[in-house]
Amino acid sequence: RAYNFNAGPSALPLEVLQKAQAELVDFKGTGMSVMELSHRSAAFEEVHNEAIARLRKLYEIPENYEVLFLQGGASLQFSMIPMNFLKEDQKASYIQTGAWSEKAFKEASLFGTPVLAASSKENNYKNIPALSDIQIDKESAYVHLTSNNTIFGTQWKAFPNTGDIPLIADMSSDILSKKVDVSNFAMIYAGAQKNLGPSGVTVVIIRKDLLESANSNIPTMLKYSTHSKNNSLYNTPPTFGIYMLGEVLKWMEDQGGLEVIEQRNEEKAKYIYDAIDNSNGFYFGHATEESRSLMNITFRVADEELEKKFLAEAKEAGFVGLNGHRSVGGCRASAYNAVPVETCLALSEFMVKFQQDNQ
Ligand code: PLP
Repeated sequence: RAYNFNAGPSALPLEVLQKAQAELVDFKGTGMSVMELSHRSAAFEEVHNEAIARLRKLYEIPENYEVLFLQGGASLQFSMIPMNFLKEDQKASYIQTGAWSEKAFKEASLFGTPVLAASSKENNYKNIPALSDIQIDKESAYVHLTSNNTIFGTQWKAFPNTGDIPLIADMSSDILSKKVDVSNFAMIYAGAQKNLGPSGVTVVIIRKDLLESANSNIPTMLKYSTHSKNNSLYNTPPTFGIYMLGEVLKWMEDQGGLEVIEQRNEEKAKYIYDAIDNSNGFYFGHATEESRSLMNITFRVADEELEKKFLAEAKEAGFVGLNGHRSVGGCRASAYNAVPVETCLALSEFMVKFQQDNQ
């Protein structure tokens, strides 16, 4: 298996892929693949409802929240959120911590007035703003933030308390990577393709009262309530993606649940950050230390020529997906849940060796 550090879609657990392979042409004696089952059949409904139940249990989602499986990626959520929850004469507070937050802000301006509650743009998004620097407009319909900034490699460690104003988080790149108190949020959303499964499924966890307050004069498919009323089966869902998502969640349970996953993610990231921190400036990180992401580790090789050599030799050695995003440059190792500890250890050892050989 490749040492897969892709930012997304990214690594899936080998055990899940093998199980899917074994069940591919005959799912549980149906004589069909999951992809060939009717989405109205009892066999698929069980897959669907089990995936929801597993997500509820692992993330300890309170009863007053709905779990939805939608399509259109996290990017469609950037539009659906203001379409449902923002009125033309209303403001919404956005905390800008990267390119994805910027995109979310831009969509909101089509429906109402987004305002910046804080931004680390001037700093090329090296850090998450201090909680004390966040200024939430009291009249905001909601507050939006990005919990983990995939491109810049920063991650929130503690979230702002927004009181009665609903807090909405794009958790695309760190959902289920650690324990989170879901009740702090009115809504959490994430494209599945980093921590939860293949692309094509978008997970939405939404408090029921928010659903009730939504705008009604919008297209049926873009209303959250359409999907909540129909258990996400209003139209044909991405059945294979939902099956895979359920299997990834089962794998997480088998690993020992979120506590074990969280510890493992800390251990994995530490191997790579240690190689950076112990390099005496040969490597340096993009994110400030307090804001470092455990999911996306962004770093540079101080010497630009050596950086090219590093990336070329890493590729040769079997490491995949280490090129940084074009807006940051350099290197990025995405160590999502399914990336094994050994893969991160191997990269850390490769980094130390490369430094020794090239200093
Ligand atoms: N939000 C974050 C934090 C992301 O990392 C990404 C994709 O990388 C997106 C949103 C966009 O997700 P999608 O491709 O599912 O629309």
